[in-house]
Amino acid sequence: PSFSSLELDEQLLSAVKKMGFEQPTPVQLQSIPLALEHKDLLVSAETGSGKTAAFLLAALHHLLTLPSAKSGTRVLVLTPTRELAQQIFKHCQQLTEFTDLKTGLITGGDDFRLQQNMLRRNTEIVIATPGRVLELMEQEIPDFSNLEVLILDEADRMLDMGFSEDVLTIANSCNATRQTLLFSATLTHFGVIKMADKVLKNHEVVA
Ligand code: AMP
Repeated sequence: PSFSSLELDEQLLSAVKKMGFEQPTPVQLQSIPLALEHKDLLVSAETGSGKTAAFLLAALHHLLTLPSAKSGTRVLVLTPTRELAQQIFKHCQQLTEFTDLKTGLITGGDDFRLQQNMLRRNTEIVIATPGRVLELMEQEIPDFSNLEVLILDEADRMLDMGFSEDVLTIANSCNATRQTLLFSATLTHFGVIKMADKVLKNHEVVA
């Protein structure tokens, strides 16, 4: 199976080609078609599986095929650490190279004001760690009321690091009709099962 069989936007296929990806990985083959049907997903995927491109390609295809007249963030990716957020941000910049989509990074340690200015500029995709998003939310700057896709990356690690309440608070501030994609290395983790129950709707499991 090739990437073109996934029927992704041409600009994304060009980026995938430039990155040297020849074939989709199993998690990409299984999750991208379901995500493109706007289903909520609970995906079992480890680092190295190609999970980042799986959720980014699905979300980016959605943004490119359904332009929005509304303002605010359209895709939010929450991930446990600053390092992971930076990696996802870089990956997203490569995948959006042939598009006009803008990606922002929100992590602790960086300038608060710069992050708020970035959020005000209608950045479609935001990659973030939960703690800083919550801090910004207290200032009422991020607007997730029009959010279309919420992605929880490495959910098991986020919960183990104590971000459970933060993730729920952020998820509850997002548009209720959004799509939610939850990625975790393990699906037997009790916290992940509870989280899935609270944030996903009629979801499919990719294991
Ligand atoms: P991840 O599991 O998202 O951390 O990705 C692991 C690595 O695999 C990253 O360096 C990606 O750039 C790379 N990768 C993702 N998808 C593919 C693919 N379809 N073909 C080759 N490499 C890939």
